[in-house]
Amino acid sequence: MAKKACKKCRAVYESSKCPLCEGSESVDTFKGEITILNPEESELAKKVNVTKKGIFAIKLR
Ligand SMILES: [Zn+2]
Repeated sequence: MAKKACKKCRAVYESSKCPLCEGSESVDTFKGEITILNPEESELAKKVNVTKKGIFAIKLR
């Protein structure tokens, strides 16, 4: 399966639904991805509005 990004939380995943929020709406035309390891301490996480660990798309199209 191709990589896609969740429309809700922007998690990047390859299964049939989002492992983080269980949403099934996704886009496969996202731009860039970042890995968040420490959401509480990461400036990057704040910037992209992420509060969970994981891989996230920077921009959805
Ligand atoms: Zn999600």
